[in-house]
Amino acid sequence: MQGRQERWQEDLFVACPLRALVPEDHILRRVDAVLDLSWIHDAVRDCYCQNNGRRSIDPESALRLMLAGFFEGIVRDRELMRQAQVNLAIRWFAGYRLDQKLPDHSSLTVIRQRWGAERFKQFFERTVRACMDAGLVDGKMVHLDASLIRADVSWESLTTEYIEKTIEWNKADEFEPEPAPSEPPRRRGRPRTNPPKKKKRSTTDPDATMATSSQKQRLEPSYKQHTAVDDQAGVVVDVAVTTGEVNEGAQLVEQIERVEALREVAVETVTADAAYAHGANYQQLEGRGTDAVIPPQREPRKPKRIPASRFQYDAKHHVVRCPGGKRLERKGSCESPTGWYYRARAYDCRACPLRPRCFGQRANARTIVIVDGYEALLRARRRWRRKDEGLRNLYGLHRWRAEGAHAEAKTRLFQQPRCPQQHRPEQHRMAITYIDRLLFEL
Ligand code: SF4
Repeated sequence: MQGRQERWQEDLFVACPLRALVPEDHILRRVDAVLDLSWIHDAVRDCYCQNNGRRSIDPESALRLMLAGFFEGIVRDRELMRQAQVNLAIRWFAGYRLDQKLPDHSSLTVIRQRWGAERFKQFFERTVRACMDAGLVDGKMVHLDASLIRADVSWESLTTEYIEKTIEWNKADEFEPEPAPSEPPRRRGRPRTNPPKKKKRSTTDPDATMATSSQKQRLEPSYKQHTAVDDQAGVVVDVAVTTGEVNEGAQLVEQIERVEALREVAVETVTADAAYAHGANYQQLEGRGTDAVIPPQREPRKPKRIPASRFQYDAKHHVVRCPGGKRLERKGSCESPTGWYYRARAYDCRACPLRPRCFGQRANARTIVIVDGYEALLRARRRWRRKDEGLRNLYGLHRWRAEGAHAEAKTRLFQQPRCPQQHRPEQHRMAITYIDRLLFEL
């Protein structure tokens, strides 16, 4: 029989708890069943005056609103509070009655600023410890990965560094010209022919630096999230946010140390992609007794040149022997502090029959760079060349654990905040990761 719904709803009272109106399988009901935030009042006690002033928003309600926003995929406070007005589930989850006035959206921003990034980090660590207690984290195998996050700044805010400096000078009360530079440090090697590139920076969000994940894509103002995921159940056990230009390889050891400090057991296996394949990282992981499942980068090859891998390195005597049997000796440090230059003698190369294939016309001797941890890097290359099935399987885990965590956060939860001043990336990331894992476990 065809039905007809009465549009005019005359009921003045609803005789059931708000909870009953939220479906049992709703994500917020499932989260509420396992969520214990009774510790939050003590954790933020020092942020509030206890005996004076206007009554604050309940910290637990504020955190629940933030959580509800992330679970519902709403990361903008204004939008969240607009939804909370009409969304019974959010209202119930945050502990507000139907007729109760909700906080203003700006209150959530103020609360985040008041609590600060360090406190959000503590919340995150508390979550990880709870996962450990529940047996979801064993800390034996950790997957590391990094991902760029486009900063929410306009292209118009970008300026070259020297313009920004001029503006700073003009703003200063007393104009003090920079002191004349003293004698510039002597540079080794040939003088630079190209002027150094001018860097672009955002005037509205100077923490976001220009970076790209691919040579085919343009540079964009970005942050970088460095994530460590435990293998057992895919729980994120460490997160750090840096500017976009920071190299993830340089963060590896620090991240492992933080994970070990949290879990208080040594990490046995680390998986990461080729961006972490630094000789120094292999060396340090070997020294710690950690198995590094990190595919080495391919050696850069110049066409028709003898590759550096054909040169034999003697680490004990700091000498390199070339395919022509000559010695290359250490010549000062590299420009980037990652290794050492080794250079052949010009008169050795002049008489060498391999010279046309060894280096270009303009040089008079071959120079190669031996990076720190070069021997460990060679051992890693040999290991990956063996096509070890177990190694490939371990690296396969990295794909769906670490890269999957980033992909999940980006596609489902992460939206660009409108105002970078209101959403500091550290807090933003912490919260997303916290919720993302919780959601994953539920
Ligand atoms: S050209 Fe110089 S560096 Fe190259 S193989 Fe001959 S001697 Fe060695």
